[in-house]
Amino acid sequence: STPLIIEEKIVGSVRLNSNKPNMFLPDDLRLLDIISNLASVSLENAFLYTRTKELAIRDSLTGVYVQKFFKDRLAEEVARSLRSDYPTSILLLDIDFFKAYNDKYGHAAGDIVLKKVAGVLVESVSDSGDIVARYGGEEFAVILANKSRSEAVEFAEIIRKKVEAEIFILRREETKVTISIGVATCSEDAKICQDLIKAADDALYKAKKLGRNCVATK
Ligand code: GH3
Ligand code: MG
Ligand code: MG
Repeated sequence: STPLIIEEKIVGSVRLNSNKPNMFLPDDLRLLDIISNLASVSLENAFLYTRTKELAIRDSLTGVYVQKFFKDRLAEEVARSLRSDYPTSILLLDIDFFKAYNDKYGHAAGDIVLKKVAGVLVESVSDSGDIVARYGGEEFAVILANKSRSEAVEFAEIIRKKVEAEIFILRREETKVTISIGVATCSEDAKICQDLIKAADDALYKAKKLGRNCVATK
């Protein structure tokens, strides 16, 4: 047997067995060693590829998916939704008065808030098909596979309350943020991806107009 080595660490081994005694000669071991070296390089490439791919679809600050990935997945989800006649809802979330928060407490404090909001979203989604993404600077988007509009509104309300309850301590001062959320559902609000996003965006705009820190539909 020979080891599989990546970056000076043994990550596995390749082993040849025979039920006949004395089947292998030193030359066979040398050949196995060559095969193991090749396999190690291939494995390392495969690991690197997976890691690079993961980095390309994840937002570096918050660790949630990027907008492009969200849109690709939403297109798939909308198609499936229409085919099998079950709802898919989306949320668009935007932090209220975030520019003022940054101006008052600094950009680094704002980044901590963004990470926390992303964390609240990730820990709150339950379905394995659900996707949390950073949609823009201080905007997030969520796909709720299989949730009707009323279920999505209920879920959005839970998120809104969770964020409202968070306390960020900065230089011994307690600070808070709130979010506004727009909800849209396929197929009631739209039957294609772009229209669904537009509907959620309109709903988000409505939530802002209604005074922020609230959930709205179209
Ligand atoms: P509204 O309630 O209408 O959403 O007001 P707002 O101030 O949140 O909206 P606006 O779009 O004017 O400001 C968004 C701010 O988000 C501006 C920018 O400084 C901040 N922002 C965007 N991306 C980041 C980021 O990566 N880190 C931090 N700390 N701030 C960010
Ligand atoms: Mg915004
Ligand atoms: Mg905002």
